[in-house]
Amino acid sequence: MEREEILSWLRESDTDRLDALWRRADDTRRSCVGDAVHLRGLVEFANRCARSCAYCGLRADHHELPRYRMTPEEILRCADQIVDSGCGTIVLQSGEDPSLPAEWLADVVGRIKSRTPLAVTLSVGERDERDWAMWRQAGADRYLLRFETSNRALFDRIHPPLPDRRSDRLADLRTLRRLNYEVGSGVMIGIPGQTYEDLANDIEIFAAMSLDMIGVGPFIAHPRTPLGRAGSAGDPPAGQVPPTEEMTYKVIALARLVCPRANIPSTTALATLNRQTGRELGLMRGANVVMPNLTPTRYRQWYEIYPNKACVTESPGDCVPCMRSRIQAIDRRVGVGHGNSRNRSARASQPIEFQEP
Ligand code: SAH
Repeated sequence: MEREEILSWLRESDTDRLDALWRRADDTRRSCVGDAVHLRGLVEFANRCARSCAYCGLRADHHELPRYRMTPEEILRCADQIVDSGCGTIVLQSGEDPSLPAEWLADVVGRIKSRTPLAVTLSVGERDERDWAMWRQAGADRYLLRFETSNRALFDRIHPPLPDRRSDRLADLRTLRRLNYEVGSGVMIGIPGQTYEDLANDIEIFAAMSLDMIGVGPFIAHPRTPLGRAGSAGDPPAGQVPPTEEMTYKVIALARLVCPRANIPSTTALATLNRQTGRELGLMRGANVVMPNLTPTRYRQWYEIYPNKACVTESPGDCVPCMRSRIQAIDRRVGVGHGNSRNRSARASQPIEFQEP
């Protein structure tokens, strides 16, 4: 798809024309990845974080937030529950904590792989190649690292580097690809200062990187963060992308059209904007994955990357049945097995060079 077409869809407001976009994305989803909706059991296993991201409620200087790291035994109990509930994948997510020993996480991954049939996805931020290689060796299958925005100046503003390391998430994604992970990335939609051109560029990068997984969600202001506090400061600049539900559906639909075989979740941030039907509409406009939250209830309240997160007060037993009934209600079926990236299998038979546009 040409850049001009991406831009004109992002600016489209006519509901009939948008209906045609949703239909096109849904048809592409059906013919390229089928009707299965894969369940990824999310475990937010730690909220300690060394970074000062201007958008995220886990940022290091949020001192009132109680910090936790689950024990390996607690994580293994979650893994067993995830198997029992019929999910094929466990996603281990946390803040970015350099004091988390790579060996600790390698041991947890190894234990999950030896006692369950689960695929393991890690999402623990920026680490050294050595750590990523160790986790891959221990059996981790996939890695999620959103590049958040392709506008480098905006990224540097909202994601200040650690003193000893420049953040270069696109380079990190290339490293992860080389280590033979299934690689997932994505962006937030409607970051203050993000323009339509930026977002079109993000979508072009999804395609150029031939991502296995693409996760996108609306930016949601957190009052304890610099971007949350800046939220009330006057009118948004011209060309600012709004952090809305509709804009999120547009990006999901366009991601499906530019990366037809990728796995695309209908995210919790989207469900936070529309608790009744957000997940379903995401699934009907290009997405084919949902991530039920299997974090123990007592920890959920502390993994507050943004406020009023959907499902925070529910218990782990609630989430999967809720997702199953939502999937059935829209005439789709729950995926069985790992739900690996079809994009990756296609790439393996016909290698595609990883290039930025
Ligand atoms: N520490 C890991 C995991 C972060 S949480 C990492 O940095 O990769 C996963 C995602 O939540 C982030 O990549 C970001 O895109 C999203 N997120 C964080 N704060 C948010 C906010 N205020 N609104 C919407 N999404 C947010």
